Amino acid sequence: MFGEGAGLQDALPATQLPSRIREGKQPMQRTAQAAAVPAHMTDAEWQTRVDLAACYRMIAMFGLDDLIYTHISARVPGPEEHFLLNPFGLLYEEVTASNLVKVDLKGEIVDPGTDPINPAGFVIHSCVHEARPDLTCVIHTHTVAGVAVSCQEEGLLPMTQTALLYRDLIGYHGYEGLALNMSEQERLVADLGADKHILILRNHGLLACGRTIPEAFIMCYYVEQACRMQVAAQAGRGGVGQGLVLPPEEVQALAHKQAMGGIGQTALGTREFDALKRRLARQGADYER
Ligand SMILES: [Zn+2]
Repeated sequence: MFGEGAGLQDALPATQLPSRIREGKQPMQRTAQAAAVPAHMTDAEWQTRVDLAACYRMIAMFGLDDLIYTHISARVPGPEEHFLLNPFGLLYEEVTASNLVKVDLKGEIVDPGTDPINPAGFVIHSCVHEARPDLTCVIHTHTVAGVAVSCQEEGLLPMTQTALLYRDLIGYHGYEGLALNMSEQERLVADLGADKHILILRNHGLLACGRTIPEAFIMCYYVEQACRMQVAAQAGRGGVGQGLVLPPEEVQALAHKQAMGGIGQTALGTREFDALKRRLARQGADYER
């Protein structure tokens, strides 16, 4: 749980952590396929590539990918407005640090000779990166539960603790057809506003944005979980007033306020992200090459 996890990150005594982590030894962290930083690349870019490739694998791990479609983008550290994206045609499980493609805000490839991207897919991402430089990473999904909730008039209900975590960080964007129309970018950015992190794209999917890659991942993961919980609850009992219970409004506000205590931390999601990197390593995932 994001709120609880964020609290634990601060509160958990070091002695309660596994000794391998407590002592800073994480032998499972790197795979045998890990590659050295290429000569023409900064350490910061390579680390972003490794983390972004790991994020693709994690999204696939939880079934949040959609064949070769949807994207996760991340800003390359540095003065240039450059971004990393999956090559068009690869499954998420095939994305690695070195095959990620570097593009500019127009979606044009920076390094000649690299694989093509899906330019239409970058339309949603590029406008967020341009308008909100505080958001380093943008994850877009087409999951069944996310789309199902996006089709519901009331959107994500303040029904579960998980849904309440993000209550004030969620905006909505109306469907305008496939995201090929550049003029839609203005409306999408307006719906994201200055402080939202998540957009529920009506009739389409979800968008989760983070100040870091781990933050975007943890927000994507928990908003997806909240959507799954809502759809499952509705499938069991119909709707509100038909056997479903919402927490009292003051409790909704309290839960969100408690969770927001973690949002100020730039390390949000890092502990969970590192744990999942260790799972990837145990599975022999070759994302670091
Ligand atoms: Zn989409």
